[in-house]
Amino acid sequence: MKSVSRTGTTQKEKLLKGIPSSPGTAVGKSFVIKPEKVVVPTVKISESEIDSELERFASSTEELIKEFDQALGKVGQQPKEVGDIISANIIILKDPFFIESVQNIIKTSIAAESAVIQSFDAQMKFFKHSNDRILREKAAELDHLKERLLAALRNRNIFHSACKDSIVVANSLTPTDIVHFKEIGIAGLVTEVGGIAGHVSILARSLEIPAVIGVKNATSGIKNGKNIVMNGFTGTVITNPSDETRLAYRKKKADEIKYKRKLGKLVKLPSETKDGKKIHLLANIDFTREVENAVKVGAEGIGLVRTEHMIFPVKVFPSIEEQYDWYNKLSERIYPHPVTIRVFDVGSDKYAEGIPKHEDNPALGFRGIRFLLSRKDLFEIQVKAILRASKNKNVRLLLPMISNIGEVLESIDLVEKCKVELDAKGIHYDHNLPIGIMIETPAAVMLAPDIACHVDYFSIGTNDLTQYTLAADRTNELVADIFDPFHPAVLRMIKSVIDAAKANNVKVGLCGEIASHAAATELLIGMGIEELSVPPSVLLELKSRIRNTDMTRSKRIAGKALNAFCMNDIREILHNGYKA
Ligand code: PEP
Ligand code: MG
Repeated sequence: MKSVSRTGTTQKEKLLKGIPSSPGTAVGKSFVIKPEKVVVPTVKISESEIDSELERFASSTEELIKEFDQALGKVGQQPKEVGDIISANIIILKDPFFIESVQNIIKTSIAAESAVIQSFDAQMKFFKHSNDRILREKAAELDHLKERLLAALRNRNIFHSACKDSIVVANSLTPTDIVHFKEIGIAGLVTEVGGIAGHVSILARSLEIPAVIGVKNATSGIKNGKNIVMNGFTGTVITNPSDETRLAYRKKKADEIKYKRKLGKLVKLPSETKDGKKIHLLANIDFTREVENAVKVGAEGIGLVRTEHMIFPVKVFPSIEEQYDWYNKLSERIYPHPVTIRVFDVGSDKYAEGIPKHEDNPALGFRGIRFLLSRKDLFEIQVKAILRASKNKNVRLLLPMISNIGEVLESIDLVEKCKVELDAKGIHYDHNLPIGIMIETPAAVMLAPDIACHVDYFSIGTNDLTQYTLAADRTNELVADIFDPFHPAVLRMIKSVIDAAKANNVKVGLCGEIASHAAATELLIGMGIEELSVPPSVLLELKSRIRNTDMTRSKRIAGKALNAFCMNDIREILHNGYKA
């Protein structure tokens, strides 16, 4: 099909293929965020921008100093030189001569990034060409510091100009970006990179923003401010859509809304299979306000609160009162149903204050419980806030990224210590607050029977379990076809956790993205799962599938899939099962 441009020339529609990451269609104008360009040292600004550039430089420097200070507090076991380098960086960033030199350059109408480059380059020139090895190394260190400061400077302000109802096209986005874009009211997202189980995709789904990821060269192939349409069900984007195509997409959108309304009839109906097997259906939420969506679709509780998402917009850890307020609102709103509050799972693709911004392998790094146990001050604040919110006995505490039993025991000790402190102050809380762990590492799967006696429940996190089992980064589109939660190894792990839980009388639920997948409903129910937690946006669709499920058939499908060891066989079993 063809569309006619304003100049009267006829342009061809172009179909771009990507990976469907968040369902829904969108029609709108593109808002293209060009990837970072190499910053040149002479970018000019107008006089009216000088103050804001000075401010940007000051806050980025401050942020970096904070990050270095925290890193310094943790170097303990490392060679002395590591601490020395960090200290030297802090000294430079605080040095009045350095600060003044950058400020003076900015005041001559030069952008903050360029001023930083000019100032650092001037200093490095002396060291770089020296015959002395130590001085040459100094130049390399300064270069590294310059890059860190530039990264801190670049990290801001792509949001103001993104307009409502536009389709944002970017190389990659952060969870913080997604939250801001939701607030602006964009219609859809297209990125060049990312994985469907990455937190960007998860957030897009839970905030109901249609998204297509892994579209090669999207930022160069799609022009800014032009009409485009996208389809988050099929993973396609069309540039220069003809009037017919746009009309067809508008109709699709209207049908989507109609379908959602139809599903609304299921809210009051029970979540059970055709033959009466009860399947508890809970909601995953990322922000307190989403509890309303969960209530609206009739969730029987909140199966996962990703509390770390609540701190993205500010990046700093909130006070105990602020957290108590969040958790208390959640527990009161969902009462008498339970709310499962997972302690901050920062790290990996989720950044917050105190987390190093640069780890070579962040997913295998300083994440979740590892971070919290190294910052017991923050951990205790969160646990006390959760305990205080548990007074109505409908709160469950959940520990992320467990890979050894020591982490479980140390966390339980910390909870006990917090309880003693609350007792001493006469503060009410649930003395039997259930404590559970995420099963999302192969280590936790293998140890599940041993950990069971220490905890009240397991929550299977298939997103990370798939990533760690298959050694396939959940955020990397290049391995999107390897990252497959239906892989036989992952399915067998899920089954072994369900069995371990049942044998040890521990409750087990599943909150990973596989639960939303149409092909997984019968399979998981057939494996014996009795609690599923999914984003509110897909809960009713899942309920409709559960109500069409037959236990005998599900068990047969699960049995067959668990015996298969080849992906194609599993696909066929599930495909036939799903269609039949
Ligand atoms: C998971 O890993 O499956 C999970 C539910 O946790 P998250 O997606 O937040 O890592
Ligand atoms: Mg996880």
